[in-house]
Amino acid sequence: VTEPDVLATYRMDQSQGTGAGMPLVAVRAESTRHVQAVLRTANRFRVPVVTRGAGSGLAGGAMAVDGCIVLSTERMRSVHVDPASRTAVVQPGLLNVEVKAAAERHGLWYPPDPSSYEISSIGGNVATNAGGLCCVKYGVTGNYVLGMEVVLADGTAVRLGGPTLKNVAGLQLDKLFVGSEGCLGVITEITLRLVARPEAPHTLVASMPTLEAAAAAVLEITAACRPSLLELMDRTTIHAVDDYLHMGLDRDAGAMLLAQSDLGGSAAVREMEQIADACAGNGAKDVFRTDDAAEGELFLSARRASLPATHRLGSVYLEDIGVALPDLPKLINGISAIGAQTGTTIATVAHAGDGNAHPVVVYDAADPESEAAARRAFSLILELAISLGGTITGEHGVGRLKTPWLEQQLGSDAMALTRRIKLALDPEQILNPGVILP
Ligand SMILES: Cc1cc2nc3c(=O)[nH]c(=O)nc-3n(C[C@H](O)[C@H](O)[C@H](O)COP(=O)(O)OP(=O)(O)OC[C@H]3O[C@@H](n4cnc5c(N)ncnc54)[C@H](O)[C@@H]3O)c2cc1C
Repeated sequence: VTEPDVLATYRMDQSQGTGAGMPLVAVRAESTRHVQAVLRTANRFRVPVVTRGAGSGLAGGAMAVDGCIVLSTERMRSVHVDPASRTAVVQPGLLNVEVKAAAERHGLWYPPDPSSYEISSIGGNVATNAGGLCCVKYGVTGNYVLGMEVVLADGTAVRLGGPTLKNVAGLQLDKLFVGSEGCLGVITEITLRLVARPEAPHTLVASMPTLEAAAAAVLEITAACRPSLLELMDRTTIHAVDDYLHMGLDRDAGAMLLAQSDLGGSAAVREMEQIADACAGNGAKDVFRTDDAAEGELFLSARRASLPATHRLGSVYLEDIGVALPDLPKLINGISAIGAQTGTTIATVAHAGDGNAHPVVVYDAADPESEAAARRAFSLILELAISLGGTITGEHGVGRLKTPWLEQQLGSDAMALTRRIKLALDPEQILNPGVILP
């Protein structure tokens, strides 16, 4: 693709705060051989290559750089499910929702469920090691990768891992490419582990008096049981969602907790009781429970709407930090303190059950002071997560957005090791320059 209008649609992902350059060309590869041809040529002429799945990334990993080739996987869409081994072999351009549907046709389930599951590709999910709502119980994308085919910078296609459910031959090189954000190679095929479908969920919604009470309840819940979903919304988010969807949410609540159990039957009822007890014990004003999956989904829609709802408040910087669960209360208090210190509005939602929070810093793009304050808040939140021994990104990736903070988290030795791996695999540094490594 070279037509400027069409090319423009391949320039950007969904991130804020990283600029996009102008690509030379976009290539819609249809096969591994096409990807090999692109990389061989790019390597020879030292042309940067930005691999693109569906462009829903939030860290700037699929932002074009000037003069690059955007290598799109959107036309690589085959899928084959093997019910006997409960595996699926997929090409990277398939959307997450399509992988789920293919598994479902065989009575199976592919668990990882980023909120973007309808608009993100499975290749992008693997390349960012995407998380989601059910990770608290079922883990992240990487937990379901059994193997892959990947094309290296010089055009060599290698197969790593495979459909065997146990395999410890050699280094686990497939894991190196999970979360590598297009910096080490282009993933052209993935073998995924599938599982049995869970029972229909029971859902609980609790209005908590304060954020602190909600965080304390989360720790009691995770000590007692393992819900299949455990999410938190702070008051600013509750108001934003209620203004957007008019759902009659409790606007006086300090925070809202949402939990699900997919154990089914009496086991789910018991798990819901444990969760309700933890909420009540921490001062919940209201606890609502339902075993009707459709009603539960309605409450989840409030959580799913949180990002579009906060986008209506102004321009936003979206954070994605994580801490070990015992530090969740400190993280949540620290974010509130940063909001007060910088005079910014911060709306926080969290995959609370795995300590991964998304504070959304709202600002007025027309006001340079407001933008500067938001940038300061963004930076302070990252430093807070690092100071708590946590991570600058729980699921969205480093991309181009967070490279300045990576060394602070990893330390200089781990950073040097990262550089050595990058140079060993991509000596001409054509693959996604500026991502992960500055
Ligand atoms: C509304 C919304 C909600 C979101 N919710 C979540 C969430 O809950 N959890 C979560 O983890 N993320 C979430 N995201 C972020 C995003 O959807 C994920 O990061 C997703 O995995 C990106 O997939 P993609 O196909 O859009 O990848 P892209 O944005 O196209 O690319 C992402 C990165 O992967 C690289 N890449 C893509 N395909 C390949 C490949 N085949 N080989 C090598 N590298 C490749 C790119 O170079 C880039 O660095 C959300 C985004 C939006 C817009």
